[in-house]
Amino acid sequence: MLELPTYDDVRDAAARIASHAHRTPVLRSRLVNESVGADVVFKCENLQRMGAFKFRGAFNALSRFTPEQRRAGVVTYSSGNHAQAVALAARLLDIPATIVMPHDAPAAKVAATEGYGGRIVGYDRYTEDREEIGHALSVAHGLTLVPPYDHPDVIAGQGTAALELIEEVGDLDALFVPLGGGGLLSGTALAARELSPGCALYGVEPEAGDDGRRSLREGRVVHIDTPVTIADGAQTQHLGAYTFAIISRHATDIVTATDAELVEAMRTFFTTMKIVVEPTGALGLAAVRRLAGDLAGRRVGVIISGGNVDLDRFAALLTG
Ligand SMILES: *Cc1c(COP(=O)(O)O)cnc(C)c1O
Repeated sequence: MLELPTYDDVRDAAARIASHAHRTPVLRSRLVNESVGADVVFKCENLQRMGAFKFRGAFNALSRFTPEQRRAGVVTYSSGNHAQAVALAARLLDIPATIVMPHDAPAAKVAATEGYGGRIVGYDRYTEDREEIGHALSVAHGLTLVPPYDHPDVIAGQGTAALELIEEVGDLDALFVPLGGGGLLSGTALAARELSPGCALYGVEPEAGDDGRRSLREGRVVHIDTPVTIADGAQTQHLGAYTFAIISRHATDIVTATDAELVEAMRTFFTTMKIVVEPTGALGLAAVRRLAGDLAGRRVGVIISGGNVDLDRFAALLTG
């Protein structure tokens, strides 16, 4: 039996990260509210340290290392934001960090990870297994593996974004959360079920990689090939054991968005709200637009999960 994290773990994580993570702003847009017909609040984790919510989970996990674990170091695998998060948290806590990263990761994410002092080991995301590489490094060098989503301390840390949101705005009728491996959605579930029990909770994943939706329908973790989508933060192949256990218990549903809908949402964030959001970070708004008919007059929360996108790629997506 897995020992699942609880709301108390989210609370403890919030205390642990308080003096290092930003309490990110909550934004509203009159234009979005009018077009959707609901009262929509956005939790802006694109403005979190290193540009995504992942700092929360990484810092929480690393701050729980024993002195021996700190000395030996941390290893992880990530398509980008978790890598930066672990590298930054490790630097703040003075822990050596090794990051297994795909050769085709966005340039800004690679540069930022190296900038925080992380040692990068490359791999091919279409032919090699990053979990195997990470595990082998951990065994060979005594490093502690902190995976990007399927870990109780990571999940508890990610839940602190929703905790802050609901503390600030009060009860919500629905909450939309980008979904990759499910760390953010399961942490959010722990916070939302305690603080706003009636809130409908939606995971949103790219249409090209709807393993989460299928997992929920089939009642087991469905594995898929690496999906081809602009949402590089959600190119995961499967949910985890912890995340599936929490999500299948608490999520209302899992919905999808196309790449075209993500670009449209990124355009809205830029032109009406003046914020830069990466494709994966736009999943929530894209889903709110799809389900607008069901959300009329409701109080709707959206987690904007990240803002790390190269300038050239951002421009190409929005003008392409
Ligand atoms: C990692 C990531 C996600 C997905 O988070 P999971 O915990 O893997 O579900 C969504 N958006 C951004 C920006 C991310 O970096």
